[in-house]
Amino acid sequence: MRGAILAFLADTPASNVGAGFKESVGGARKKCRHCDATYETMQECFSEEDFTLRCKQDHEEQLKRLEKAPNKFLREYYSKLFGINERSHLEEAPFFDVCEQFPQDIMHVFLEGVLAYKLKYLLRHYIEEESTFSLQDLNQEIQTFSYGYSHIKDKPCIIKATDLDRQSSSNLGQGAANMWLLAQVLPIILRKFVTTDSHHWECFSSLLEIMGIAFSTRISLETIVYLKSAIKNHLLLFKNTFPDAPIIPKQHFLVHIPSQILKFGPLIRSWCMRFEGKHAYFKDLAKKIKNFNNIPYSLAQKDQKVVCAEHMNVDGKGEVSLLFGREIALGKNKSLSGGDLEAAKASIARFFPITDGPAEIRLCNSITINGTRYCPGINNLVQIGYTANGLPEFASLVKIWYVSDASAFFASKVMESVRFVEELNAIEIDEPSLPEGLQVSRPSDLPFHQVHHSYSSELKKKYIPLRQYIFDTD
Ligand SMILES: [Zn+2]
Repeated sequence: MRGAILAFLADTPASNVGAGFKESVGGARKKCRHCDATYETMQECFSEEDFTLRCKQDHEEQLKRLEKAPNKFLREYYSKLFGINERSHLEEAPFFDVCEQFPQDIMHVFLEGVLAYKLKYLLRHYIEEESTFSLQDLNQEIQTFSYGYSHIKDKPCIIKATDLDRQSSSNLGQGAANMWLLAQVLPIILRKFVTTDSHHWECFSSLLEIMGIAFSTRISLETIVYLKSAIKNHLLLFKNTFPDAPIIPKQHFLVHIPSQILKFGPLIRSWCMRFEGKHAYFKDLAKKIKNFNNIPYSLAQKDQKVVCAEHMNVDGKGEVSLLFGREIALGKNKSLSGGDLEAAKASIARFFPITDGPAEIRLCNSITINGTRYCPGINNLVQIGYTANGLPEFASLVKIWYVSDASAFFASKVMESVRFVEELNAIEIDEPSLPEGLQVSRPSDLPFHQVHHSYSSELKKKYIPLRQYIFDTD
């Protein structure tokens, strides 16, 4: 068996240590592990082409100067100048290039970096400079907002006044998942307080657009080209709108995101959110098993047993996926009979040929498919396709049927996609203008598996906030 290292995935300090760069960019003249950016140049330049990218050859040259430095003072000087501490052990792996194979982690760059930084200045502007609303007003709105069932677990926490201090590094008191949800719902929450026709707002909505594309699972080449210009315009707008706020290294890292998507594919496929989730599980486990002699060994043993147990098909029911456990898990459900059964069969048969056999159809209160839980409800929507205008088309889940040994079927009411509302980063939806019957679709036919929720602003219009860019059809 042969293998090679494709990429080293971690947050900024850990990646920098792995690559042999300075762990904290604060002490380095060159602050980026991808290019020669200094504090001064990252304030002025907002395209990757404006910087000289680090390359294997130059990196080797810099390492040699560092290693051959005749005294520790010169070594320290070179170390600060180049932002390099030492040769990375990963260079021992075949074909590994430390300048190319340490991509940015979008969770840390956005959800624990750029977004909090931007929001801190935006909220200070509205709360302190313009007195548009108070922090109490904002917290009240955030806490009483009616989050959809798939959002509620990530409900943002209360933001403290100290979180808005310039020097605060508290990430507004939010975890990464809370921050992601806050970014989606904040435009709808703030819509009643602020006008969206301002540079301050435009700067925020442009960041949401960039995040949506960077977090997408499907990104076309055209969208990557657009992302480059969107990042450049956003950073320029940020600089002009918040002249007192310096461009921080994580904002500079944005200029490298498009080329890294080209190299590695959508970066959400390799982000640290999943690793940190598993890490949190291990931290909890270590406290529970209370055996500290050899923690990695104990945790690995315990986890392998749990994974093994999860994959055992004890009751012989259904396939057990190596990745997801049971791919389909039914919530509370009942078997249909009589007229209900015939009506369900007729609805499904309008869209899919089902055999005449005595198929049992179960009506489900919820169904979990590959880890995503779907529940019927007027405010619970899935994307079923695209409109003729290229807008994502959504449908409210009305009924969920499970046909034994076949598939789940969603009976849904198709909503009208009115427009993409750029300033809210959301799709405005409305009731269909013509009454239509229920649309029936299979989960595997949906272009994206996520559940969406619609929220109303003070105008009573309904908006579906977009957490990912879902306009690229393939
Ligand atoms: Zn750079």
